[in-house]
Amino acid sequence: MAETGVRPSNFIRRIIDEDLASGKHTEVHTRFPPEPNGYLHIGHAKSIVLNFGIAQDYNGTCNLRFDDTNPLRESIEYVKSIKNDVRWLGYEWNGNVRYSSDYFDALHGYAVELIEKGLAYVDFSSQDEIRAMRGTLTAPGQNSPYRDTTVETNLAEFAKMTAGDYPEGHCSLRAKIDMTSSFLCMRDPVIYRIRHVEHHQTGDKWCVYPMYDFTHCISDAIENITHSLCTLEFQDNRRLYDWVLENISIECHPQQIEFSRLNLEYTIMSKRRLNELVVEGHVSGWDDPRMPTIAGIRRRGYTPASIREFANRIGVTRMENVVEMGVLESCIREDLNDNAPRAMAVLEPVKLVIENYPAGEHEKIDAPNHPSDESMGTRKLPFSGVLYIEREDFREEANKKFKRLVLGKEVRLRNAYVIKAERVEKNEAGEITTIYCTYDADTLGKSPADGRKVRGVIHWVSVPHALPAEIHLYDRLFKTAMPGSAASLDEVINPDSLKVVEGYLEPSLRHAKPGQGFQFERVGYFCRDTDASHGDKLVFNRTVELRDSWARIEAQD
Ligand code: ATP
Ligand code: MG
Repeated sequence: MAETGVRPSNFIRRIIDEDLASGKHTEVHTRFPPEPNGYLHIGHAKSIVLNFGIAQDYNGTCNLRFDDTNPLRESIEYVKSIKNDVRWLGYEWNGNVRYSSDYFDALHGYAVELIEKGLAYVDFSSQDEIRAMRGTLTAPGQNSPYRDTTVETNLAEFAKMTAGDYPEGHCSLRAKIDMTSSFLCMRDPVIYRIRHVEHHQTGDKWCVYPMYDFTHCISDAIENITHSLCTLEFQDNRRLYDWVLENISIECHPQQIEFSRLNLEYTIMSKRRLNELVVEGHVSGWDDPRMPTIAGIRRRGYTPASIREFANRIGVTRMENVVEMGVLESCIREDLNDNAPRAMAVLEPVKLVIENYPAGEHEKIDAPNHPSDESMGTRKLPFSGVLYIEREDFREEANKKFKRLVLGKEVRLRNAYVIKAERVEKNEAGEITTIYCTYDADTLGKSPADGRKVRGVIHWVSVPHALPAEIHLYDRLFKTAMPGSAASLDEVINPDSLKVVEGYLEPSLRHAKPGQGFQFERVGYFCRDTDASHGDKLVFNRTVELRDSWARIEAQD
């Protein structure tokens, strides 16, 4: 099994254990809070497995909440894909999907409360002026000229902002905290701004929208979240998270805990950059099988179990690191090795004729669907005197290390007979067009009677029964391990990340379901592509090779 089933242990779970032991909490409530501004990627999977996994293991709950405070960049398409991806990973959220926008009324009320307490003010400075007055890491900021506006005026101005009396950028609402704080996020952060745009959930009801830092903590508190897990870049913002909750009249105060994001070699992880790949046409879409999106990885043939296992294997810490692609690949390889049915496919065919096999005849051979799992059953494999084998599985001459078919020598055909190569036919260019063989009819499912040893095994498909198929051989999308640091994506894109070949499949694959995974014996793991526009045409994606050809030290399995 790909999943070890061992309950992961990490510093966050230890904090939760302590909180339950001390009685600070009796239940655990987490949430996964994506912004619907793109498709989820494998980094989000880490956060999903963490949040939903904790809820599962502690008999708690996990909410799915869309952090939808920036209507300009968000869309319903993304909302739908995110819901689909979370479910596909095997999780169900607690109750209805939530939206930060569900709380716009409450958030507005809390903003008014801060104004009434003298803790927020309407600032008519421009964005540039606010930035200039903010100071730097080494220099303190300066107070805005609007910082001491009276409560009454602030209330009236915020009401005008809300009513749509001002154009975008004319003013904003800022929390009044401390312009000399060593945390820049505490230097009177903007908490509301004007945006005259429709929102995908609230339509044209609002023209002021709360900022992320103000929204997130209050949304967590409204939902009675106990542990608010986020990535390390929000570490400083924890001060603001706590400040807001301490200064409004709300009971619940979730604990924010930060962990390091997932970084993966040979890929990029920001939605903005992934969008560039799509827009610039480097890939066919968000679900291109080379994309690190959940949609892409799914189409590539990864299973939900393999991704959950990956998330658990990499663990959760506060240390920044970069995970090797091989870790992800070995998770799917192990899963498919155990669970994918076997089939035969020839990707670079050369014709092989068995001259002593009855001409025009064929037979059906029983072949196991899995070498060690009998419960997966058997299938009927048609065999005939004309086969395709892999061109690279034959040589006219070779040394002993080449355990495949050599002129004058024997090899076993997988699931079938022992054959011997007798002679070849070539075209004018000197390429082999046909290999002529004889077969030993007494070797089906058994060794040769005279005890001679046949060491090699090669795969094949019967020419009259073969199904032509388009096979997509995917490789890494980037040729450097850290493509995110390149100035332009063009510099680091691997030009050979997709090779399309016309191969031949055994006929049982006619019934492969879109998305279904197989091991093409001796070739790799493949799944039938899910793009409906292919119709009946057989298109298969390579999920992963049988062995890690990129591994620097040695293959991992
Ligand atoms: P991106 O930069 O890719 O858009 P984001 O952090 O802006 O990422 P959100 O939709 O805001 O994306 O993220 C939802 C949740 O997923 C957040 O809690 C965030 O911390 C977490 N998350 C995002 N990227 C990663 C990652 N690489 N590793 C772990 N968690 C992540
Ligand atoms: Mg974001």
